[in-house]
Amino acid sequence: MKNCLVVDDSKVIRKVARHILETLQFEVREAGDGREALDRCAERQPDVILLDWNMPVMSGMDFLRALRQSEGGMHPKVVFCTTENGMAYIRAAIEAGADEYVMKPFDRETLESKLQIVGVS
Ligand SMILES: [Mg+2]
Repeated sequence: MKNCLVVDDSKVIRKVARHILETLQFEVREAGDGREALDRCAERQPDVILLDWNMPVMSGMDFLRALRQSEGGMHPKVVFCTTENGMAYIRAAIEAGADEYVMKPFDRETLESKLQIVGVS
């Protein structure tokens, strides 16, 4: 069973993502900010991370940079979830080490296709 870490400061979004991912047979863990997410990754690197952009304590971008420099931190595929549709944001995320991005709000079909693109479905 593949392991997915859902990182978002919105409890509602984490709940929606968890539901979709569980129907896709993923084992799901959650984190409410980048700092918490680093702790979860230190326990065990997930196969894929759904990562919010705007969060308190530590943003998605800062988390991503720290993750990629940490031990085993190149393993997880990272799908950036954003409401920012500017290409500059997306380019910055890819440069920081994201593998794909998805616009919020996302549905099951969209998320499933992104997971297939990064090779973890
Ligand atoms: Mg947020």
